[in-house]
Amino acid sequence: MIRKAGVLACLVLLVGGCGSGEMPDPNTLADLKLYVFDCGMLRLENVEDFSVGNNETEVRDLSVPCYVIEHEKGRLLWDGGLPSTTADTEGWQGEGMLLRLDRTFADQLTDINLNMSSFDLMAFSHMHFDHVGVANEVQGAKLIIQKAEYDAAFADPVTLPGADPSLYNKLKDAEQLFITGDHDVFGDGRVRIISAPGHTPGHQVLFIDLANTGPIVLSGDLYHFALSRTDRRVPSFNVDADATLASMDRVEKFLEEEGATLWIEHELALFNQLKKSPEYYD
Ligand SMILES: [Zn+2]
Repeated sequence: MIRKAGVLACLVLLVGGCGSGEMPDPNTLADLKLYVFDCGMLRLENVEDFSVGNNETEVRDLSVPCYVIEHEKGRLLWDGGLPSTTADTEGWQGEGMLLRLDRTFADQLTDINLNMSSFDLMAFSHMHFDHVGVANEVQGAKLIIQKAEYDAAFADPVTLPGADPSLYNKLKDAEQLFITGDHDVFGDGRVRIISAPGHTPGHQVLFIDLANTGPIVLSGDLYHFALSRTDRRVPSFNVDADATLASMDRVEKFLEEEGATLWIEHELALFNQLKKSPEYYD
């Protein structure tokens, strides 16, 4: 990145010569990148658990993305999709809620010359199975997690409804950074974890200030459907309905203040329009 910026600087300074060694990097803002990966799909029979009537939406298929954020100070994995073993079987599988995964995240990473040891940091919107599917495969990354989420996910027995510790138990051995509330990941304000509890005790969303795309927020499961957002629907299985509504208010205010766009992670109609790795947003 620095080399690229250096070349640009050289072009700009061509008239005055360009042989004076190291140049300051004038263009680090453009170095922030976001890669979107297809980490599976969910197919629901019934959407009533999301407090959405089956006749209110025709949507039954949900996207399950993973994201890689490249910052000059490190590489962050945000959300871990469905378990990689889902890809062992072709097509839809399961009962009730169906799952599918066409290509593992680890395999997709090879397209951009990365592997499961390439991350400096990992953070998950929350610890449900469709967000931590690859958690145990990540090697050597520091886990950033809300203390409340950690305490529930690692309690014995687990007190986080819907969590499957067999998918994430190795995180206990990872280097950990416990946070309580918002967290500026790289210290320059451009990648920020925003606390949004309610779906789970330590649910969180991610703000990324992209230079060309503009600021965006990855929703986690603050909302599952477009309708969940417009009509403030709280799934019946959320651990705290009041906290969820307060988190919706807080994130909506944040979006307005930052002029940021919200990407609902599970919204397939949006996901289908997004560029996928190896393409990226910057
Ligand atoms: Zn989810």
